[in-house]
Amino acid sequence: MELTNNTLQKFKHIKRETSDFVNIDPLQTAGILTPEAREAIHEWADGYSVCDFCTSTVDLIKKPPIKDFVHKALPSFLGIDEVRVTTGAREAKFAIMNSFRTENATILIDELAHYSTIVAAQRANFNIVKVPSSGYPKYKIDPEDYAKSIENIISDTKKPPTLALLTYPDGNYGNLQDAESIAKKCQEYDVPLILNCAYSVGRMPVNAKEIGADFIVASGHKSMASSGPIGLLGTSDQYSDIIFRKSPTNKNKEVEMLGCTARGTTIMTMMASFPTVVERVNNWGQEVNNARWFSLKLEDIGLKQVGDNPHNHDLLFFEAPILYDISQKAKGGRYFLYKELKSRSIHGVKPGLTKNFKLSTYGLDKEKLSYVADSFKEIIEKHT
Ligand SMILES: *Cc1c(COP(=O)(O)O)cnc(C)c1O
Repeated sequence: MELTNNTLQKFKHIKRETSDFVNIDPLQTAGILTPEAREAIHEWADGYSVCDFCTSTVDLIKKPPIKDFVHKALPSFLGIDEVRVTTGAREAKFAIMNSFRTENATILIDELAHYSTIVAAQRANFNIVKVPSSGYPKYKIDPEDYAKSIENIISDTKKPPTLALLTYPDGNYGNLQDAESIAKKCQEYDVPLILNCAYSVGRMPVNAKEIGADFIVASGHKSMASSGPIGLLGTSDQYSDIIFRKSPTNKNKEVEMLGCTARGTTIMTMMASFPTVVERVNNWGQEVNNARWFSLKLEDIGLKQVGDNPHNHDLLFFEAPILYDISQKAKGGRYFLYKELKSRSIHGVKPGLTKNFKLSTYGLDKEKLSYVADSFKEIIEKHT
């Protein structure tokens, strides 16, 4: 590419088409910024401006009050002893796994685990074993199957897995498995458990100690109204020296954090949204009611909600044979649904999907949800 003035112009002044749409994109609904976070972006946008008064590492900065946030507020919020901010949930998972890296280490993960769990485990050179789910249509995981899988690993490798992980909830069906019982099974075999809470921390109350997990990871841009990429890594005291081990040469820098992690608007938006996030998790009951109500509305017009049903989370997965049939004849083919929704200022169903897709009801009131449900109805009626 020749870097002429003309070709460079297109990188400037880029507008976002969907910023005033009704948003049902599961990736985005709980990552929408609070007004305070938007203000923080302007205030702290200059590179390294959070580091004005840094004396060692970013998590220990007192002004702005990152130290209190990371070392006091976040451990209390997550119900865990030690927390660090990371670049995302995946980096948190990788940091934990990498800290336990050994020859022939195995990690036991749920079948519904996110791809980022898999690539993190591959990067840390783990063998991956999956705990099966009940499959279509419920995708439930029986805690007993964690015990069975651990037994199988012991008989195959002569030792239990190095780590176990549960996705809570998974990113496809929004299923909240019985984390407490799974944690108990892992404890029986002394296998440390990572809870992947990318889709829960910041939306609903989650407490690692109450569940019995050794580690918890979260995603700021997905569920904590933060401008990412940013995530959280929480660990119990038992493992904090391993995960947060210091460099032998650079004595105050933690190796797994590469010294310092989120050092800009990412942490400042997470902090600015935090008071709202602490409050909003208390509205979780209402969010679940809204999701169930919306699910019934779509089932009334011929869609089928897969996964836990009635559902316990705002992330909903639908099968829509009726929309698929329409796409076979409609103008625009399989893109017809995306286009119809877009023309109604609704963003969030992936372009090209009709047969099945996921969406999220998080943060939308009944009026907006009615609008979305009515739009689906109208689209179906228009084409049949
Ligand atoms: C979105 C998601 C992630 C990735 O989160 P990042 O913070 O972007 O790394 C991990 N796990 C699940 C289940 C997710 O849905």
